[in-house]
Amino acid sequence: MDITVVSSLSVRKRAGVLVIPFWKGKQHPEAAADIKNITALLTHPLASGDFLGKEGESMVHYVADQPEARFLLLGLGAKDGLTTEKLRKIYSNVTKLCLKKKITDVNIVLPMSASLANEDVIRGVVEGIVLPNYLFTTLKHDTLKANPPTVIKHVALVGGNKAALAIANKCVVLSDAVNMVRDLVNGNADDITPQHLAAVARGLEKTSKHIQTTVFDKKRIEKEKLGLLLTVNRGSAHDPAFIIAEYKGNPKSKDLTVLIGKGITFDTGGLNLKPTGGMEEMKADMAGAATVLGVLHAAAALDLKVNVTAVIAATENGIDAKSYKPGDVYVSHSGKTVEICNTDAEGRLVLADAISYANEKLKPSRIIDLATLTGAVEVALGQDLSGLFSNDDALADLLLRFGRETGELVWRLPLHEDYRDTLKSDVADIKSTGGRPGGAIKAALFLQDFVGKVPWVHLDIAGTAYTSEARRYFPKHATGIGVRLLVSFLEAL
Ligand SMILES: [Zn+2]
Repeated sequence: MDITVVSSLSVRKRAGVLVIPFWKGKQHPEAAADIKNITALLTHPLASGDFLGKEGESMVHYVADQPEARFLLLGLGAKDGLTTEKLRKIYSNVTKLCLKKKITDVNIVLPMSASLANEDVIRGVVEGIVLPNYLFTTLKHDTLKANPPTVIKHVALVGGNKAALAIANKCVVLSDAVNMVRDLVNGNADDITPQHLAAVARGLEKTSKHIQTTVFDKKRIEKEKLGLLLTVNRGSAHDPAFIIAEYKGNPKSKDLTVLIGKGITFDTGGLNLKPTGGMEEMKADMAGAATVLGVLHAAAALDLKVNVTAVIAATENGIDAKSYKPGDVYVSHSGKTVEICNTDAEGRLVLADAISYANEKLKPSRIIDLATLTGAVEVALGQDLSGLFSNDDALADLLLRFGRETGELVWRLPLHEDYRDTLKSDVADIKSTGGRPGGAIKAALFLQDFVGKVPWVHLDIAGTAYTSEARRYFPKHATGIGVRLLVSFLEAL
C-alpha cells in the first residue's frame, strides 16, 4: 500500500471514499478534526440522528461534486477515552467497507486528539487500515478471473505532515512482514514444505546485506545430532530442514536475540493420528517459523540496530510405516532421552533440539520461541491472548508491555514447578507430555528442561496465530500475530 499526506481538505485528490472522524458529543456528534470545507454537506446526515459518533459507529453518506463519491462518518466515542487499540479496531471497519465495495483509494481526515499523542493516533489509524487489508487469493483460479478481488492500494492522510508519513510508512513495512507470514501460513502444506521455508529464509539474504542464511539438509542434521527433529521427520516424504537466518544490524555488539519458530509444515498427529475436524487447519502449524522469518524481514527493512537470529527446525509430522512410535525413547540433540507419550506432541520435540542447538552454538543473550504448541493454551486464554512463559521477569514484563502497545496481547502463565513431576519417566530422562490438565504449562516445562540459564520466553500462539473467523483487525485464517510484538521489543533493546 502506498501512503501520501496532504495538508488540508482543499487540496485532496480523487478517491473512492473520504473518512471523517467524530467524537460522541453531548447533543450531537462533534467533528474530531478541522472539516470546515465540508461542514455544509454534513448538516442533513448529522441532523438525522442516525449517527451519534459512538465508538465504532459509522455512516455512509453519498455526495455529488466532491473528489469522492461517498463520505464515511466514523465514530471515535468519548473524546478522552481514545487509545491506539481503539483506533485500530475503529479504522479496520474502513478497510472492511473498502474490500466489500472494491474501493482502492481512500482519503482519511486524521483525527486530532488532546488525550492521545499524535504518533499513537497515526499508528492506530494506519494499522487499523493496513492490517485487515489482505486477501489470500492465490489458490482461487476461476473465481479470480470472473470477479477479481482487490485491496486498498492508496491512502492519503489529510492533515498529515512529513513526520506522520514516516510513522505511516513504518506501519506499512510492518504490515508487509505480517502479510508475508500470512501468505506462508495460509499456503498449501504441499507447497510450504521445509524446503520452501528454507528457500524463503535464503531469499531474505537478497533483501538485506546484513542477513546471512544457513540451511542444514538431512545429512548435516544427522551430523549435528538433531535427534528429535529426525525422529519427528521419520513419517514424512519431505526431508527436514534446519534453518539459521542471521540479521546483524549491530555487528560490533555481542548482544544476540535468538528467535526460534516451530516449523511443523503439516501435523497429522503422527501415529496418534488427529481426528477429522482436528487436522484441517494443521498447515498452520508452522506459524511460529513463518513469524520469526517475518520479524527478520521487518528488522532488516527498518534497519534496526540489533542482532537477531531466526532458528527453525522444519519438518512435517507425517504418518508412515517409518513413523516414530508412542512409548519408544529417542535421543535429543542435548543428549537427554525422551519417552514419547503422544506423537501429536511433536512441536516441543523439534523446539527442544532447536533450543539446545542455539544454546550450544549461537551464544544467545536471550531466546524467544514462538510455537502453535498446545490446544490447552487456547482453552485457557481464547483467541485474543497468546500464552507467555518465562524464566526471566524483566524479559517477560517487556513483552507484556509491548503486547499491550501493539494489541498483540500476551498473558503470563506460570512455570509451576510441582507439575514437573508429571514429566518424570520410568525409562527415559523425561517424558514428552504430562497429561491433559495444565497442558500448556507442562509443554513449557518440557521446553525449559532444554533451556538452561539463558533468559528465555516461550510464546504459545496456538490460539492466536490462526482464526476461523475475522476478529478485530485480523482477517480470516492466518493472523500474522507476533511480528509487531517482537519488532517493538527489538526496537526497545
Ligand atoms: Zn501435533
